[in-house]
Amino acid sequence: MTRYLKDLWYGWTTTWHSMWITIRHLFRPNKGYTIQYPTVKAPLPERARMRLFNRIEDCIGCGQCARACPTDCIDIQTEKRGKDEPPVFASDGTPIKLRTFVFDIDMTLCCYCALCTFPCPTHCLVMTKEYEYAVYDKRDHIYHFAVDKPRYASPAEKEQPAAKA
Ligand code: SF4
Ligand code: SF4
Repeated sequence: MTRYLKDLWYGWTTTWHSMWITIRHLFRPNKGYTIQYPTVKAPLPERARMRLFNRIEDCIGCGQCARACPTDCIDIQTEKRGKDEPPVFASDGTPIKLRTFVFDIDMTLCCYCALCTFPCPTHCLVMTKEYEYAVYDKRDHIYHFAVDKPRYASPAEKEQPAAKA
């Protein structure tokens, strides 16, 4: 019985103790500890790492990013381009000798270390500051970057202005 009454007392006092902290803050001016998200957004650190993006047009399929990844969440599959196919280049002029037909990143496994971005020779794999990408189905966090994208036929072509309709 004594134990029961003690538990009752502790339950009552600890609940009121925590409620008292909340009630005290109700009548204090907002000193910027809370913000009206999503109307107001907190500033991000300069080198914030939030979401990966691959500019697949510039990816040469070298796989250096996948080898650097500690959680093995980048899946790349490539094939050699045929000798008779016209040469294609990344926007920095690097020749693209492989056809990347799978470039998937599973962001559910990513630990946001950004180690994959540093060895990328064409700087096409980058960490962005985008952080609002919640989904209902975690399969939607597997990003498929290898889709048919236009490649530059030559390094000079990217300098050409787009043709007017
Ligand atoms: S940020 Fe780190 S864990 Fe995420 S894909 Fe890149 S290397 Fe892998
Ligand atoms: S390191 Fe860069 S160029 Fe190489 S496969 Fe990864 S994203 Fe593509």
